[in-house]
Amino acid sequence: MSNDRLIYAIWTPWAELLCGTCHNQAAESSTKAHAIAKTIPIQHTDTPQFRSTCDRCDVAVACSYEDVAACKNLVTALKAAGFDDAQLEQTGGMCVAATVRKDGWIAVATLDEEEGETRLYVGIYKSQAHYDDGDTAADGGGLTEDQAVAAIKAELPQ
Ligand SMILES: [Zn+2]
Repeated sequence: MSNDRLIYAIWTPWAELLCGTCHNQAAESSTKAHAIAKTIPIQHTDTPQFRSTCDRCDVAVACSYEDVAACKNLVTALKAAGFDDAQLEQTGGMCVAATVRKDGWIAVATLDEEEGETRLYVGIYKSQAHYDDGDTAADGGGLTEDQAVAAIKAELPQ
């Protein structure tokens, strides 16, 4: 596969970003028709494509949703930083967040748009109840991926 072709990825209702092959293995037979394992010439699509990796097999993929790709890439960076249980989550209406849970604390990162620039927002919550109430222990926006990882590292219990 040349560098300018990537596998088109599916953002699933159960909060995984999957290549067609993994989607076909995971999906109910009734939904397999939606998942065609195909590659696309990334520079020739009408809609923007954002580079990320498959949740299950780590193959390089292209995703139509910038927030899903950014959160998945953050999950990958968090796992590399030692947060093994970092994962994507659905936050309602197919919206996406990257989350880490540790000792009852929850870190939630989403994509934020500020003056036309897309950056990450991170909220840190002391418990599920605080998360449900939107009561952050710490939060910050306008972050790059590296800054988001550093913020989560700094704020979660060690
Ligand atoms: Zn895959």
